[in-house]
Amino acid sequence: MTLIDVDGIDVAYGDLQVLWDVSMTVDESDSVVTLVGPNGAGKTTLLRTLSGLLEPSAGSIEILGEDISRHPAEEIIDLGFVHVPEERNLFDEMTVYENLRMGSFTHRDQFDETREEIFEMFPVLEERREQKAGTLSGGEQQMLAIGRGLMAQPDVLALDEPSGALAPQLAERVFQKIEEISTDITVLLVEQHVDRALELADRAYLLENGRIATEGTGDELLESDHVVDAYLRG
Ligand code: ATP
Repeated sequence: MTLIDVDGIDVAYGDLQVLWDVSMTVDESDSVVTLVGPNGAGKTTLLRTLSGLLEPSAGSIEILGEDISRHPAEEIIDLGFVHVPEERNLFDEMTVYENLRMGSFTHRDQFDETREEIFEMFPVLEERREQKAGTLSGGEQQMLAIGRGLMAQPDVLALDEPSGALAPQLAERVFQKIEEISTDITVLLVEQHVDRALELADRAYLLENGRIATEGTGDELLESDHVVDAYLRG
């Protein structure tokens, strides 16, 4: 089944066009779909458009077969797509527990069960359940942001640079968690750590200057001369 079908979208901020004729597919059979590309290529813009925060001026987007232009942004989560933004957007003054609760508003009746699964996956969140989110370390905050996203029980969890600003060891721990999560649900991963993100990917897209420059399996992109020359050498 196709979870996300992006077909030829153009997206602009006012007069500034950022995405040009972008097409992308995420299938239920994909564990991880990776989107890589340089700063300013439009990766975050694509995720924001999938979230319904920006509207394409051309092309179409379907999430689980539903045309998202017919749904307001707050309904996109119900369709099965959750986006954890790079800036995490945690409620700093609320506890870990309260932040998780905020993530479960679409499935409040299953809060206890889902929360237990999240605590199993991220034991540190259970240890710190009464601690304010703003006092957690960067790595813990990232785990909480991912955990809060999972509380909505998405079919696709989009993560925007989850390893951003983390020390290498912590970044690796986040990648391990992503691998674990992707055994159950499909992860759409935007990453600066191009080699690690492509290793995990069943399918991958390289976005350059707002256009899809290359697509293929993660292994194909890892072996592509263009990707190696521009992003992996040195
Ligand atoms: P990064 O890795 O730096 O986050 P990115 O690939 O996610 O890069 P975007 O954040 O999508 O890229 O930005 C794409 C382009 O859109 C950039 O030129 C950026 O300056 C511009 N842009 C992003 N957000 C806005 C905005 N709110 N208003 C106007 N222009 C924007």
